[in-house]
Amino acid sequence: MGSKRPLTSLTPDELAAFLKERGLPAFRGRQLREWLWKKGVLDYAGMTNLSKELRAQLAAELPVVSLAEKTVLRSRHDGTIKALLATASGAHIEAVAMPEEDDAGAGAGSPESDAGAADGARRKLSVCVSTQVGCAMGCAFCASTAGGLKGSLYHWEIVEQVLLMAKLAGTRATSVVLMGMGEPLANYDNSLEAVRRLNSPDCLGLGARHITVSTVGMVPGMVRMAEEWPHVNLAVSLHAPDEETRRRIIPTAGKWGIIEILEAAGNYARVTGRRYMVEYVLIAGVNASRTHAEELAALLRRRPAKVNLIALNTGGQGQYSAPPEDKVKAFRDVLAERGVEVIIRKRRGRDIEAACGQLRLREES
Ligand code: SAH
Repeated sequence: MGSKRPLTSLTPDELAAFLKERGLPAFRGRQLREWLWKKGVLDYAGMTNLSKELRAQLAAELPVVSLAEKTVLRSRHDGTIKALLATASGAHIEAVAMPEEDDAGAGAGSPESDAGAADGARRKLSVCVSTQVGCAMGCAFCASTAGGLKGSLYHWEIVEQVLLMAKLAGTRATSVVLMGMGEPLANYDNSLEAVRRLNSPDCLGLGARHITVSTVGMVPGMVRMAEEWPHVNLAVSLHAPDEETRRRIIPTAGKWGIIEILEAAGNYARVTGRRYMVEYVLIAGVNASRTHAEELAALLRRRPAKVNLIALNTGGQGQYSAPPEDKVKAFRDVLAERGVEVIIRKRRGRDIEAACGQLRLREES
């Protein structure tokens, strides 16, 4: 990229070396890391225990973050925030922040104790990040594939999206999903390093069970994940119970078969002790019939999988459409009746083109 490495890219040791080379004391490293990772302050002006001279020196040599905010949209319906961000080399990527009330404790505890925590202490924030600029997977219904793959993100660009979205939402991120633009396992090393840093107490310190990696089903990467990754949640974009249907919408279906993908995911589940998620985007006339539901149930019944159904988010473009709500519910019921754990995922931020790649498409066209 040619430009300077940002503060977000440095390990504690690298930051210590950077400061030492400039004759700056080691405790500055601890201060900088505290501001960045613990307090989420993304500019030197806000780091008030650093002298003016030091702030100016650092600002000239070590930008805090490399990504710049281009467009920020806030949904009027559900608080979802979507941002178009520019990398140092000028490429556009998208990230989404989804605030949620933490209702895990609802019904427990007394009304008084609930009131005590009513000041936002229970707020949850899920952030969806991109791992690539564009995508090479070519899924027929996905806006991220328009224009193909333009590049892969550095690990700090993946991590920075979490910091920037948390700042925009005004609260800490409590979970991160690598489900934005791109295929995480096609940018394997950077995705892995980003996950390690999100997880590390030296950086964001987010529990591995609060991090989810979504893949189109790149089997070799999934096999390596089981050996090398922190034990994150694995989500697999299946979208069809049979090869023929899957090939209609996912070009890589010809490369890795459904059973092969589910076996690799099952192995990951064995290693981590946690079930994997099967993502299933319902598309009218393609994969949403009762027969598809029955076949999916038969396929998954004895596997450590839970299904996330989502109706296609069209963003007003493309040849595909979502089935009506009653069809979505009927699909869910077929799975549930056959003993497959299933939920319908809410479509969020529909008024702000929140599905993969939709905002970038609008801004660039
Ligand atoms: N490449 C990875 C991660 C990015 S896509 C993967 O394929 O999983 C993240 C999820 O969003 C995938 O399940 C993808 O199929 C889904 N998706 C893409 N476009 C969508 C749309 N318009 N509506 C609903 N889901 C979509």
